[in-house]
Amino acid sequence: MARVEKPRKVILVGDGAVGSTFAFSMVQQGIAEELGIIDIAKEHVQGDAIDLADATPWTYPKNIYAADYPDCKDADLIVITAGAPQKPGETRLDLVNKNLKILSSIVEPIVESGFDGIFLVVANPVDILTHATWKISGFPKDRVIGSGTSLDTGRLQKVIGEMEHVDPRSVNAYMLGEHGDTEFPAWSYNNVGGVKVSDWVKAHGMDESKLEDIHKEVANMAYDIINKKGATFYGIGTASAMIAKAILNDEHRVLPLSVAMDGQYGLHDLHIGTPAVVGRKGLEQIIEMPLSDDEQAKMEASAKQLKEVMDKAFK
Ligand code: NAD
Repeated sequence: MARVEKPRKVILVGDGAVGSTFAFSMVQQGIAEELGIIDIAKEHVQGDAIDLADATPWTYPKNIYAADYPDCKDADLIVITAGAPQKPGETRLDLVNKNLKILSSIVEPIVESGFDGIFLVVANPVDILTHATWKISGFPKDRVIGSGTSLDTGRLQKVIGEMEHVDPRSVNAYMLGEHGDTEFPAWSYNNVGGVKVSDWVKAHGMDESKLEDIHKEVANMAYDIINKKGATFYGIGTASAMIAKAILNDEHRVLPLSVAMDGQYGLHDLHIGTPAVVGRKGLEQIIEMPLSDDEQAKMEASAKQLKEVMDKAFK
């Protein structure tokens, strides 16, 4: 007789633009058997659960409902997208005080429910909120992960792919550091088919400033979208569903995530974006990329910025 696996259960907290896009992406990709959704806007969640369930005659998961904190008890994964988004002119770090308050009102009842799975934090500032989730929950470091520079890395791969006329999935490139203004591309590694992007640029008659233009374009993309339509959600909704899938399906996949530093890059006591391996148990390995001196200095500057904001916010 076939072995019946426990259904994979996800609870999403925060059913706004990012959360509902994540949920739709999950449904379309058939990532879990069960999806519960929590939000303070209870009636909206009820409507959204029914609306999402409307897509399930042709997709998966089959069981989608408006949830409450006790439902977290036997969940495998909690995805936190609750929190204020950036307004035009605001940085992600400007959101820290309001979103830390929201976060603690969420993490405490989740832990009280007896939840024993993995946290995936997406709300901003994601590195700081991931660190706070780890602290508030008392969970081991391998079970608290942030979406980190996943979205930024996807944007970087897309921009390089367009320049070199290749599929972004064939671009080996990372944005590292804070998911925010101090993030940076790892140019000493970033390559297509083993040819460094910096060499490709030179070979095509462009100077080094092209790399800086790409960096700026990627770093400013969120501001551009927010100025034009008020929020960004399709990219992060899809990226966070990809992370959820890598965890639930035990993919041992390398993704650029916000994880707890334990001496990597000489850093401690913070979460920051680096390639990391994830699977069914959460974080399996942190990959410390060999960085050039300039990139190491950027990583340290990014960490310093995060620590300064955390020191004030956690006081
Ligand atoms: P939104 O305003 O559309 O949705 C936020 C949702 O959170 C709302 O539905 C609101 O009711 C809910 N909420 C607020 N307080 C709550 C609480 N105490 N408990 C439960 N739910 C609560 O915002 P959005 O555009 O969906 O953005 C959500 C977060 O995601 C923001 O912090 C934003 O900056 C972040 N974000 C992250 C990335 C990334 O790459 N990590 C990308 C884009 C946006």
